[in-house]
Amino acid sequence: MTEKSAIYREVVDANAAYAADFGDKGNLALPPARGFAILTCMDARLDPAKYAGLAEGDAHVIRNAGGRASDDAIRSLVISHKLLGTREWFVIHHTDCGMELFNGPTIATLLEQSRATAAFDGTIWTNPQHEGGSTEGWHIAWLNFKDLAQSVRDDVSRIRNHPLTPETIPVHGFIYDVKNGQLVPVEADAST
Ligand code: ZN
Repeated sequence: MTEKSAIYREVVDANAAYAADFGDKGNLALPPARGFAILTCMDARLDPAKYAGLAEGDAHVIRNAGGRASDDAIRSLVISHKLLGTREWFVIHHTDCGMELFNGPTIATLLEQSRATAAFDGTIWTNPQHEGGSTEGWHIAWLNFKDLAQSVRDDVSRIRNHPLTPETIPVHGFIYDVKNGQLVPVEADAST
């Protein structure tokens, strides 16, 4: 058996401490008690439980790179409402998002050369290795963006106008500021 990493042990130890103080959370119901869902970025600086005041059992949190309204994010939101009763949705992107630092051809070209982690000098991405790549990156919609507020408006609009989204569900757009922890509302497009 291979030796477990330090990170592996940290996660297992942290879980043991959490489970030891689990209290009555084993009695929580499956549907979110407060009836809402958040779609947000996977960025490690964002903690939706803290920035939106959530406890276990309160709300659905759907995360991906950018907090984008991908087909899979919409799949989760539809399940969230249709089967689990959420009635209000939030789309929360954030300042200094990594999704603003590349475009589709950039990451596809990097991956074609190597799957190892690339380096970024503030302007250009480069590969430290030049072997073991794949062309599969050209077949993925990376959903990067250049205009942060517009990316929120686009995703709110896509979710709002999706045929599987009921008209009764409010879809709110926000930008989370990684410098001060504040959520700033983004007004939807006038047409939506
Ligand atoms: Zn991000």
